[in-house]
Amino acid sequence: MAVTRTFSIIKPDATRRNLTGAVTKMLEEAGLRVVASKRIQMSKEQAEGFYAVHKERPFFGELVEFMTSGPVVVQVLEGEDAVARNRKVMGATNPADADEGTIRKTFAESIEANSVHGSDSDENAKIEIDFFFKPEEIVG
Ligand code: GDP
Repeated sequence: MAVTRTFSIIKPDATRRNLTGAVTKMLEEAGLRVVASKRIQMSKEQAEGFYAVHKERPFFGELVEFMTSGPVVVQVLEGEDAVARNRKVMGATNPADADEGTIRKTFAESIEANSVHGSDSDENAKIEIDFFFKPEEIVG
């Protein structure tokens, strides 16, 4: 299987509870390598741009408010089949539906405050990585 990259966000509910290390440990134990990482305060414009695909959804305003409510850690993860590998360790969007041992089952507070973001395709991974990182910030 090919080594690929995906984009991850440790969301404000997790940084607020000091879980950056705990979440990253689960990512690493799942076979993913952090090849770029930075802690940022997302602006409203950045959050709206990042989640533009969801702008017609009823929860869009709340989601933007949540994602700007505190610091996030944006990361590029590398590993075999990174997108699928990350989605598996993240667990389902709603923590009530997430499998045991996943990040969301372990840490998420709600369907919105669900601790992590992960790209859903190789194509979106590239778009999302380019949204937050310059090539020289990624060191594999
Ligand atoms: P993901 O790919 O598993 O993150 O899920 P989606 O792409 O469907 O949704 C993006 C994000 O929007 C989720 O991770 C949640 O933070 C949030 N979200 C999804 N569904 C809901 C919802 O029904 N209500 C609220 N408030 N937020 C939601």
